[in-house]
Amino acid sequence: MDLASLEKLSPTFDWKSFLANHRVPAATTIIVSEPKAIEQFEQQLAKADLAQWKAWLRWNIVRNAATELSKPFFDEDFTFQQTVLNGVKEQRPRWQTCATATDNLLGDALGEVFVKKHFPPEAKRRMNELVENLRITLREELAKADWLEDSTKQNALKKLNAFYPKIGYPERFRDYAEVPISSNTYFQNVRAAAISERQYELAKIGKPLDRNDWGMTPPTVNAYYNPLQNEIAFPAGILQPPFFDLNADDAANYGAIGAVIGHEMGHGFDDQGSKYAADGSLTNWWTDADRKRFDTRAQCIIDEFNTLEVGGGLPNHNGKLVTGEALGDLGGVTLAFKAYQRSLNGKPAPVIDGFTGEQRFFLAFARIWARHFRPEAARLRIQTDPHPLDRFRAIGTLQNVPEFHKAFQCKLGDPMVRPPEKQCKLW
Ligand SMILES: [Zn+2]
Repeated sequence: MDLASLEKLSPTFDWKSFLANHRVPAATTIIVSEPKAIEQFEQQLAKADLAQWKAWLRWNIVRNAATELSKPFFDEDFTFQQTVLNGVKEQRPRWQTCATATDNLLGDALGEVFVKKHFPPEAKRRMNELVENLRITLREELAKADWLEDSTKQNALKKLNAFYPKIGYPERFRDYAEVPISSNTYFQNVRAAAISERQYELAKIGKPLDRNDWGMTPPTVNAYYNPLQNEIAFPAGILQPPFFDLNADDAANYGAIGAVIGHEMGHGFDDQGSKYAADGSLTNWWTDADRKRFDTRAQCIIDEFNTLEVGGGLPNHNGKLVTGEALGDLGGVTLAFKAYQRSLNGKPAPVIDGFTGEQRFFLAFARIWARHFRPEAARLRIQTDPHPLDRFRAIGTLQNVPEFHKAFQCKLGDPMVRPPEKQCKLW
């Protein structure tokens, strides 16, 4: 939107001086992710009285600063955010809190040290190989996908070829020389880093895209697909066991990080990815018929997660909320399995510790989802997180995968086998 359209959504608020105070250049296009939220905001401006607004804003300032203030503030914030909402009983050791804060505020500085210690060049080379093998596999699947029209396939291939993978860490690390840090002014340090971060972000307005910029810090145990830049990123933090291990055999790496690579790539070609073209522009490249056929496949996974018993007195997942991520997991593990077969080059995989290559692949996949939540945290996630709970990312996904059933000789009627007519499939 331009400023005029935003002003129309909420005329009472002085957007012009708000943006000027934040040093946003005039005539900047503004991304309003949730226009409805701005409409509600306008209503509240009229409804709530000034004293109420002031109290709320004051409370927000204290709340946001609570973790940087003295112990009573820190403890109170922990009680609500962690204990009440997530069931956490005990605060983390101080060094962990400090390491997390450094990662959040000066991520590249910590990342540079982390990468030197935990991510050798050989790991980057091996990861590149995995990514390219997954890309070749997805190219084959796109070419033979019966639910995409021919013209759509051409666009899909164009998009896949333009995919930009980022592995481990940025080419250049950011310099924080201008951020004043002192050993006895914690609150000021945090503020200085936050101000520097905002200036860094605002300075990008009007400049060409910088591929060196990452959306996650190097030590982060996560990965992402960014449709605006058509890129997939895997920070060094996730390129550690059990996701990735230079010394492990291919089955373990394809089953773990391979499935994550497939998951992230898949986001470029799902209901959301279909709205962004190869160059990252907001362009729908699916026909209505493509979308309809995708929706049919998506409905299968919605039905599955709506009915999958979570147990423990917790509600089931909201199938609609987790559709994209659950489909991403299913597509990801399917692609990774095919890529693994491809990497074998027709030779049989060795048996290791009594497990076949196929079995090790699926064991590695299940292991990355071995994570526990307290019941409070699980309940919160079920209601708000578009990802299914980790345990169900293994169970819910593999119930649909015939290659898994075959690897472990599961039969129809076994708990991990969905009846064939109910098995979901994307690729
Ligand atoms: Zn995802």
